[in-house]
Amino acid sequence: MKTIGLIGGMSWESSAQYYALINRAVRDRLGAPHSAKIVMHSLNFGEIARLQHDGDWDALADILIDSAESLEAAGAECIVLCTNTMHKLADEIEEASALPFIHIADVAADAITQQGMTKVALLGTVFTMEEGFYRERLTEYHGLDVIIPEEGDRAEIHRVIYEELVAGQIIEGSRDAYREIIERLAEQGAQGIILGCTEIALLISQNDSQVPLFDTTEIHAAAAVDFALS
Ligand code: GLU
Repeated sequence: MKTIGLIGGMSWESSAQYYALINRAVRDRLGAPHSAKIVMHSLNFGEIARLQHDGDWDALADILIDSAESLEAAGAECIVLCTNTMHKLADEIEEASALPFIHIADVAADAITQQGMTKVALLGTVFTMEEGFYRERLTEYHGLDVIIPEEGDRAEIHRVIYEELVAGQIIEGSRDAYREIIERLAEQGAQGIILGCTEIALLISQNDSQVPLFDTTEIHAAAAVDFALS
C-alpha cells in the first residue's frame, strides 16, 4: 500500500471527511482492520481565506509548495489537495513536486463521463465557479459543457461556504437556498451537479436534488485510495 499525502485544513471540516472516507474505503476493500497510510499537512484556514480574499495567490502558492515538500519529506507518495478552490495553484504544486498529483477536477470529470453525461452545473466558491482554472479543465480537457449559477446565486453559495460550512454550521435555510439553485440549474439542462467545494456535501445530499450529484470530496478520496492500492 502506498502512503497518501493530504494537504488539508481548507477547511478541516472537509479534511475530516477525507480522512474518514479514505480509511473506510481501505477497510471495505481490504477488510477490517486494514486502514490507509496517510500523512496530512493541515493548514490554518484563517490565514488561507484571508490571502484568498486579498488575492495574494503568490503567498498561497508558497504555502502549498512548502506543504507538498513537507509531505514528501514525511514519506507521502502522492499529493491530494483537499479543496477545489486551491486547485487554482495545481500547476505550481505539480511543477515544484515530483510526487504524482491527483487533480480533483480530473477525477470528477471521469466520474461524470462514466455516467454518460455531457452537461453539468458547477457549484463552489466564486473562485471555482467564475475563474477559468476549474471550468476550463472540465471543458477543454474533458469535453464537458459546464454551466454555473447566476450571479446572485453564486454569491449566496460562496457566502454559505465561508460563513457557515467551514465553521461547521449547517443551517436549514441555506439548504433550502441550495436546493432551489440546483433546481434552477436542472431546469437549464444540467444533467448532474458538481459539488465543487469539499464542504457542500455536509449540507446537501442526493435527496436534495432531482439530478445526480457529484461530490468531489467523495470522488477525490476514492481516487486517492485507487492510487494507494494500485
Ligand atoms: N473547501 C472549499 C473548496 O473545495 C473551499 C475552501 C477553500 O477555499 O479552500 O473549494
